[in-house]
Amino acid sequence: MPDCLFCAIATGDIPATIVLDGKRTIAFRDISPQAPTHVLVIPRDHFADVAALAGAGDGLLEELVSQAHRVAVAEGIDGSGYRIVFNTGREGGQTVSHAHAHVLGGRPMTWPPG
Ligand code: 5GP
Ligand code: ZN
Repeated sequence: MPDCLFCAIATGDIPATIVLDGKRTIAFRDISPQAPTHVLVIPRDHFADVAALAGAGDGLLEELVSQAHRVAVAEGIDGSGYRIVFNTGREGGQTVSHAHAHVLGGRPMTWPPG
């Protein structure tokens, strides 16, 4: 998708700190971390949001969630616990229209989030 920031990160046109590089997904550090671990996991292909990704129906969403767990293991926070967030739409706080999971951890997560 032209002019999509996360498509450009997926192709390597825009640099990011890669945590895990998968065939259909890629995980990289958020530029503005909200927790000691704050990693974004995205599909390489463009989907506007998590609902569109779920609608693809080919196991890609499941793969993305599994990859999010592998990020937590790699970061050493699978035991202490972590949060997976899909911000969706304007009031959901989604600012980048390319589906992404936030993996947050390394500190106690408050609820509700601010
Ligand atoms: P959203 O607000 O859409 O749920 O999440 C978008 C996330 O992308 C934000 O947490 C923001 O900090 C992060 N972000 C925005 N621009 C960049 C960038 O150029 N590189 C990286 N690594 N993260 C970015
Ligand atoms: Zn995109």
